[in-house]
Amino acid sequence: MAPATLPSLKDQVALVTGASSGIGAAIARAFGAAGATVAANYRSSQEGAEEVVRDIVAAGGRALALQADVSEEDEVRRLFDATVQAFGRVDIVVANAGIQQDAAFADMTLQQWQRVLDVNLTGQFLCAREAVRRFDAQQADPRISRARGKIICMSSVHEVIPWAGHVNYAASKGGVMLMMKSLAQEVAQRRIRVNGIAPGAIRTDINTEAWATPEAEQKLLKLIPYGRVGDPEDVAAAAVWLASDQSDYVTGTTLMVDGGMSLYPAFRENG
Ligand code: NAP
Repeated sequence: MAPATLPSLKDQVALVTGASSGIGAAIARAFGAAGATVAANYRSSQEGAEEVVRDIVAAGGRALALQADVSEEDEVRRLFDATVQAFGRVDIVVANAGIQQDAAFADMTLQQWQRVLDVNLTGQFLCAREAVRRFDAQQADPRISRARGKIICMSSVHEVIPWAGHVNYAASKGGVMLMMKSLAQEVAQRRIRVNGIAPGAIRTDINTEAWATPEAEQKLLKLIPYGRVGDPEDVAAAAVWLASDQSDYVTGTTLMVDGGMSLYPAFRENG
C-alpha cells in the first residue's frame, strides 16, 4: 500500500467566512499550513482575523483579512470580488460564519428567529451561490485540483438532533443540510463538490457557558461518548480533507465531527 500523504491544498485559493474566531480561524490556519492562499472573512473582529493572517504569513503563506456581513447580498459579492482581485481566483469556499441567539420558544422574538436564519442559512446560501458563479466562470485547473471547485457548509449535529431552547439555530442547520445536499446534486456534473461538516461540542466563543466551568463540562461530557470536548483543530482537519483531492469522490455528505454525540448516547444503557 502506498504511504499516506497529508492532504495538500497547494496553489488553491480558499475563502473562509467567520475566520476571526473559533472553528473558522482554525480552518484558515490549517488551510494555510496545507499550502492554500486564504481570504479570512470577519464581520466585527478585525483583530482576530488579522491575527490569523499574521500567523499564516509568518509560516510562509499568503492571506488577507476581509470584512463582510455574510447575510448581506452586496457585501458577499464584494467579499468574493476582493478575494479574486487579490488572489486571481477562488477554489474553496467554507461557509462557516454562524451565530446563536437562544430563547425559550414562546419567548423567542421574530428578530432572534430572523437574525439566526439570516446569518446561518441565508448567509450560506449567498456564499454558496457566489461560489458556484465564480467556479463556473473561471478556468478549471486540473493541476491544482480534480474538482472545479469545493464548497464546505458548516452545519452542526443540530442538523439532525432537535434542540429545545435553540429552535432558530436547529432550524437553520437543518436547512443548511438540505441546501447542501440539493446543491450538491445540482452541480456535481459541473465537477463542483459540496459537503457539510457537523461539529458536536467544540470549545469556542459560541458556547463558552457549556464548557467553561468543571461542572458545565462534566454535564456536557455525558453527551459525548468519546469523552472529551472537541477542539477547533478537530474540525479544521476534517475541512482540509474535504477540501482536498483526497475526498475527490465525496459530495453531498455531512461529515459528523462530534465524538459520537449524534449516536444517541443516552441509549447506551437505557434503550
Ligand atoms: P465563534 O467562535 O463565535 O465564531 C463565529 C464566527 O462567525 C466569527 O468569526 C464571527 O465573526 C463570524 N460571524 C458571525 N456573524 C457573521 C456575519 N453576519 N458575517 C460574517 N461573519 C460572521 O463560533 P464557532 O463555534 O467557531 O462557530 C463557527 C461555526 O461552527 C458556526 O456556523 C457554528 O454554528 C458552527 N458550530 C459550532 C459548534 C461549536 O460547538 N462551537 C458546534 C456546531 C457547529 P466576528 O466575530 O468578526 O463578527
